[in-house]
Amino acid sequence: MSAHQPRLGYTYVALSDVGRRRTSNQDSGFASQHLLVIADGMGGAAAGDLASSEVMHVVRRLDNPPTGDVIEALAGAVHRANDRLAEVIEDDPSVEGMGTTLTALLWNGTTFGLAHIGDSRAYLMRDGQLHQITKDHTLVQSLVDEGRLTREGARTHPNRSLILRVLLGRDEAEPDLTLIEPHLGDRYLLCSDGLSDMVDDDSIADVLKHAPNVDVAAVELVQRALAGGGADNVTVILGEMVDLDAPADPTLASADGQPMLVGAASEQARPGAGTTRTATNLDVVASSDDEHDGAVSTKVEPTPADPEALRYAPRPPRRFIWLRRLVVLAVIVGLLALAAKLAYDWTQRQYYVGTSDGNVAIFRGIQADVPLIDLDSVEEVTDITVESLPTFRANQVEKGITSTSLDDARDTVEQLRDIATRCADPAQANAPGTECGGVE
Ligand code: CA
Repeated sequence: MSAHQPRLGYTYVALSDVGRRRTSNQDSGFASQHLLVIADGMGGAAAGDLASSEVMHVVRRLDNPPTGDVIEALAGAVHRANDRLAEVIEDDPSVEGMGTTLTALLWNGTTFGLAHIGDSRAYLMRDGQLHQITKDHTLVQSLVDEGRLTREGARTHPNRSLILRVLLGRDEAEPDLTLIEPHLGDRYLLCSDGLSDMVDDDSIADVLKHAPNVDVAAVELVQRALAGGGADNVTVILGEMVDLDAPADPTLASADGQPMLVGAASEQARPGAGTTRTATNLDVVASSDDEHDGAVSTKVEPTPADPEALRYAPRPPRRFIWLRRLVVLAVIVGLLALAAKLAYDWTQRQYYVGTSDGNVAIFRGIQADVPLIDLDSVEEVTDITVESLPTFRANQVEKGITSTSLDDARDTVEQLRDIATRCADPAQANAPGTECGGVE
């Protein structure tokens, strides 16, 4: 008598909601017996929905009983998906810059392969503990990794939505690839940031731990995202490991074994500009909960400044180069301003003797021609006229006699006064040794 070995499989559900602030759903989701996928599109000429659905249509071709290595299969699919984006962009350059995240679990009957690129997430609830099994390819996550930001700080960081790695139809499309050995009872959640930005890990854990099945968990998670603001499209893909030989719950959405496709990829071919669409895919599991319809129909007008545009950043690092250049420029300007201030202060401790309206005067500052800036000002005007000075002295004063201090300038003025007084006296003016008459 050997213990029963469970034949592992999973129940699954996919659910997507446009959210409260968006007019279109750019997420695409897929769930089947072999494959769970989330793709969160963004960017370009509002072509995020195109990006996520094109990628989804490529990746969902993996939805077959897998014959080989799940990692190889996923890596191949990711590259084909990226090539597909490149093709679409080549056909219509106006969508250049569109991109999508991709997180996928591929099941081979015993093991999951996990492929991940971008900031959608995969979580595992095992034995009552929630684990995030993907790492966000975001700026804030890299700051957290470097110890420069806390996980809490990352939730409110102004650039928290900036993605560093995503599928863009360009070369750099390497996903993280890992194998996962599931346990009976494990619950797996794939979600777009419309969930993880609105609902914190504790709340996600609460739902995954206590919901009776994945259908209820999916609805509860989407409702919490909407209650938390619903600022973005919300998509959740769930799987729960079950024993396929145990009696199945016939009320579950996955009981018929059919795949589920939600979000942008489930809609009609991309409509032209001006066409409006609705993207409420809660009907997928409508039977499990009818209350949510009220919540979903409540929509707020889209904000004109689309915060999602921040994520378009086709080449995010460039922003930081510019930012760095701006900071460097600001530092240089600051240093120059400081140097100018110090220089100006120095000039204001200098004095010279010059002329003001024909009289000898003491000036504070220096004589210099600097456009728009007065580097000197009259400190004291004396009653000595320039005319009363001999020519040589008069010329000196016209040019300005530099002084080391205000007292020094006053001494110079007194010397000039003596000379003027002497030269005004005819008896002294013609005496030998005086400079009156100034011939020099
Ligand atoms: Ca999103």
